[in-house]
Amino acid sequence: MIEAKTPSGSIERQLVTVSSETTPLDLDARIPLGSIEQKWDECRFEMKLVNPANRRKHSIIVVGAGLAGAAAAATLGQQGYHVHCFSYHDTPRRAHSIAAQGGINAAKNYRNDGDSIFRLFKDTVKGGDFRAREANVYRLAQISLSIIDQCVAQGVPFAREYGGLLDTRSFGGVQVQRTFYARGQTGQQLLLGAYQALEEQVAAGTVTMHFRKDLVDVVLVDGRARGIVTRDLVTGEIECHAADVVVLATGGYSNVFYLSTNAKASNCTAIWRAHRRGALLANPCFTQIHPTCIPLSSEHQSKLTLMSESLRNDGRVWVPKKKGETRAPKDIPENQRDYYLENRYPSFGNLVPRDVASRNAKEVCDEGRGVGPHGQGVYLDFADAIQRLGLETVRDKYGNLFDIYERITGEDAYTVPMRIYPAPHYTMGGLWVDYHLMSTIPGLFAGGEANFSDHGANRLGASALMQGLADGYFVLPCTVPDYIASTGLDPVDVSHSAFAESKTWVKNRFKTLIAVNGKRSPDSFHRELGSIMWDNCGMARSDAGLRKALARIPALREEFWNNLRIVGGEDELNQALEKANRVSDFLELAELMCIDALDRTESCGGHFRVESQTEEGEAKRDDANFSYTAAWEWKGPGKAPALHKEPLTFEYVPLSQRSYK
Ligand SMILES: Cc1cc2nc3c(=O)[nH]c(=O)nc-3n(C[C@H](O)[C@H](O)[C@H](O)COP(=O)(O)OP(=O)(O)OC[C@H]3O[C@@H](n4cnc5c(N)ncnc54)[C@H](O)[C@@H]3O)c2cc1C
Repeated sequence: MIEAKTPSGSIERQLVTVSSETTPLDLDARIPLGSIEQKWDECRFEMKLVNPANRRKHSIIVVGAGLAGAAAAATLGQQGYHVHCFSYHDTPRRAHSIAAQGGINAAKNYRNDGDSIFRLFKDTVKGGDFRAREANVYRLAQISLSIIDQCVAQGVPFAREYGGLLDTRSFGGVQVQRTFYARGQTGQQLLLGAYQALEEQVAAGTVTMHFRKDLVDVVLVDGRARGIVTRDLVTGEIECHAADVVVLATGGYSNVFYLSTNAKASNCTAIWRAHRRGALLANPCFTQIHPTCIPLSSEHQSKLTLMSESLRNDGRVWVPKKKGETRAPKDIPENQRDYYLENRYPSFGNLVPRDVASRNAKEVCDEGRGVGPHGQGVYLDFADAIQRLGLETVRDKYGNLFDIYERITGEDAYTVPMRIYPAPHYTMGGLWVDYHLMSTIPGLFAGGEANFSDHGANRLGASALMQGLADGYFVLPCTVPDYIASTGLDPVDVSHSAFAESKTWVKNRFKTLIAVNGKRSPDSFHRELGSIMWDNCGMARSDAGLRKALARIPALREEFWNNLRIVGGEDELNQALEKANRVSDFLELAELMCIDALDRTESCGGHFRVESQTEEGEAKRDDANFSYTAAWEWKGPGKAPALHKEPLTFEYVPLSQRSYK
């Protein structure tokens, strides 16, 4: 145990315990009965409605204005509720969703290439290595059809074929072309659609935007989520906000690794503070390392850049057969190249899922066959595609991605193969939610990347946008009203003592951060934490490595609380304080991730335990012992988290060893 002094002088013991206790809590996922095709329809029919005249009497807080949050806030506003939408950004258009490049899946089957709702469902369950909830995944596949209709109606400029029909392309882990896209800017275009819908409601007076407000606590009254506490990032003011329901759509936590493809500001504070208030956190160790990112070029770098998976439609991945090769790629003859994905996985080739592609890239680099300055890279080569399709076609499809690549590396990928390497990208873990997307705190819902729900142990490409928009436009607008209609909600305002208690806790925490007055910046702690996580809880995880991380993280956290330096005060714009607040949460979450990874001694999807692999080096699941969602409960500072298990059953997609050969 380590101890950190709070400003009041009491001792807050920080969590360091490795072991986990299993407690028998019945996690009711509220999965509707009936056949999988009927569950969502039945559920919607059974849900209670709120009379339009009564909706304006209810207020809903939505935290987050990315795709999931903006879609939910706009739709609930349109229904007539009073929605308060919070974001630490100064506009929804800056949400990390804007960065999404490649596309969004939907089982429209416009190409008539064998796609169907059932196939999208099956691909997703299999792609997630059988660690997702079947009922949620099926619903996601069903709703995917409506998402495209919704976005087209909004005017999202999806790419079209010459004849005017919507175009699609392939993403990893599937053999159909179901990915709709807007060049390499799909997230941006979808977010503009959601933003327009949101602005319409702002103009209509149903949605009030609260910009530059950082959620720092969730407030519970009588066991229900009834509000939040925020810090104004410009003035430093700590403010309380009450409502009938709180929805968190606050994105993912890949930045626990410090270097990731996420926006620099993406963080875990909202879900972690909710976790500290009682919301279980599910599968925190399930993180996705994306295979096609621009390799790290210097140790001072603070950000990694994604090259969309769509590039694997036409780019061919290879490394030299010879270790320590120094020749330029153009001088290496065909027979001395190893197109290792095409060779090892002839059925899926370069379009194997991300976890498989990433692990293989690491393997060939570890063998000493990596390319580029640090040997941490593999080639993604477009020479064949350019010869086959012509330069202009390749430019039309991927031009902006090639431009990004050139701006960062100074290399022209039309003439020299791109160099790529895996990087942290997406977190499948998140707040545990039931079928209604409600967390274990009644009245606290979570959507988009902030929840754990639909992707299991590995997310297939182009499925995050689909899930965020399914949650925001279609699921939450049904389930949140059902909660309101079926719950007797007493009036609560910010004068309630629960808000005062939370505000005091928050203020004390900020004062403590400033009072440390040590020598190291928040960034330096974050960078060190990231490297511990990347080395020990990244692409490969071992018992010894995880134990090492679990020894180092508490020590780093102790140093953080004793040697942190923040310049400036709390009642002003202070980015160092913002960062320190976030890093303090990453330091706690990281430990839970390692505990979760240590506990799950099987390999599945992106969670690769080196002790559990097939003879061919693929992830080896242990269904007899690990066919469950691990949902962790915060037991208080200094106490071991408790593990609760939601058993997973597979009625429609029988359990099988994943194979992409
Ligand atoms: C480079 C890149 C490319 C990608 N490309 C694709 C793709 O092609 N297809 C695909 O399906 N997926 C893609 N993804 C994944 C996808 O973009 C994300 O999973 C998705 O956009 C997340 O949306 P969200 O609404 O859940 O969260 P975000 O877009 O991250 O939004 C979070 C919101 O919450 C707010 N917020 C967070 N914390 C707080 C707080 N404490 N207080 C107040 N506000 C807060 C933020 O201000 C923001 O408005 C990509 C991801 C990356 C990194």
